[in-house]
Amino acid sequence: MKSYITTPIYYVNGSPHIGHAFTSVMADILKRNRLALGYELLLSTGVDEHGQKNQEAAAALGMSVEEFLDMRGKEFRSVFDRLGVAYDYFVRTSREGHKQAVAAMEQSIYDKGLIVKKQYTGTYCKGCEEFKKESDLTEEGQCPLHPTMTVEQTDETNYFLKMEPYRERLLQHIADNPDFVQPEAFRNELKKMLSEPLDDLCISRPKTRVTLGVELPFDPDFVTYVWFDALANYLTNIGWPSEGYESWWAECEHLIGKDILKPHGVYWPIMLMAAELPLPKKLTVHSHWVGAGGVKMSKSIGNVVDPVEVVDKLGVDALRWYLARHMRADSDSQISVEFITQSYNTELGNKIGNLLSRAAKFSKARFDGKLPAPGPLSAQDEAIRKAVVEATRDMGEWMNLADIPVRMQSIITVADEMNNYFAEQAPWDLIKNDETRERCETVIYVTLDCLRIVMEALLQVIPESAGKALAMLNAPDAAAPWKPELDRLKGGGELNEIETLFPRVQ
Ligand SMILES: [Zn+2]
Repeated sequence: MKSYITTPIYYVNGSPHIGHAFTSVMADILKRNRLALGYELLLSTGVDEHGQKNQEAAAALGMSVEEFLDMRGKEFRSVFDRLGVAYDYFVRTSREGHKQAVAAMEQSIYDKGLIVKKQYTGTYCKGCEEFKKESDLTEEGQCPLHPTMTVEQTDETNYFLKMEPYRERLLQHIADNPDFVQPEAFRNELKKMLSEPLDDLCISRPKTRVTLGVELPFDPDFVTYVWFDALANYLTNIGWPSEGYESWWAECEHLIGKDILKPHGVYWPIMLMAAELPLPKKLTVHSHWVGAGGVKMSKSIGNVVDPVEVVDKLGVDALRWYLARHMRADSDSQISVEFITQSYNTELGNKIGNLLSRAAKFSKARFDGKLPAPGPLSAQDEAIRKAVVEATRDMGEWMNLADIPVRMQSIITVADEMNNYFAEQAPWDLIKNDETRERCETVIYVTLDCLRIVMEALLQVIPESAGKALAMLNAPDAAAPWKPELDRLKGGGELNEIETLFPRVQ
């Protein structure tokens, strides 16, 4: 069983932001879930190093293109490392093998007569690096995605890929494979994009304007349009066109933001059809993050959430937890440092970390540094154990992006139940009498064994903290395929030093 998850490759003309962090962290969570199920995994993330924007960003900093790309590549990589993104492959499109494969794909499509050279007069958005139709622009004549930039008038000769011959076939593929684009709202949006005849896709830029890119194999005066080059990374990462990529490609899932649905839902499948290659298995689309109150994040408003600042202040798992728990599947989600802090303190701190700390410290202090062995179970013990198994069972099953917040909600609900159980059983009273001492031992064991299951489930989401918690409890490693299994903590076993897992932050 294999699964190949990809994130988009990010433009390095700016520093990594919360949108980059989100897609890559979610991809990592899906990877950890599938590893826990026993799948073989490949996760790719990385950077898009070509195009006019990168060329200009380097010039603006007075750096050579190579220096600039090295600097930004390192920056993105180190941010993903800090976010705990366990990528298997970090993409750099400047890699020689990638460039050769892109050129080979272009040549094969060109040889089929599907690429034509022609003159184009019209508007161009540098932000999108795309030609725009009148109908794509706002009333003020600007790109809706780049309202602060002015669109340019261009009159250029370029190479174009014929798209229209593949439109019906792509629509048919979407109809035949309802899982191809998820969730449904974006599948419908894509169908709408394909409801009218498609213009030819410009796949080149003249070197007089852009030099940073893959030279067209059939015309050295042009470089490849960034999207054509960037999209091909999904294949070149797994070694295409050399043999051995097929089994990974058959299980490929692209994770993307809604702003790049068109390149991934229209351009890429048609490029693949033109190159006579199979389409990816799945396109999973997510919405964006906006500030509190639904206000778009911007420097001037001061509501930009910088992932690195959040990690510095609250730790990596505060951010990972917030993104996983509070994302919405098909509408924009709100984020602010205050929201993250609140969710960290109340959910991770109060509901999970405190319970662990209280029960484990109590056990260490009262039972000679050890975890007591349980006696006969009461109806309440059985009930909470059953609730924990039921709430975490899904974490042992395949997870799609939209399932993530739902499963986090189950965990928080059962954490509340565990806190209620602990408060009602009141082990601090039970310890006072010899007759109830055995009962106290059972309550402590049940609480910590339940927490152990919750932490095993959370290894998929907040691996650093969950791993620490499991080490404190001296829990044995769980094997794949994972499922919630009771009584894996050893009664009478030593507990390790208990640290505060989620120290409170003001
Ligand atoms: Zn634009």
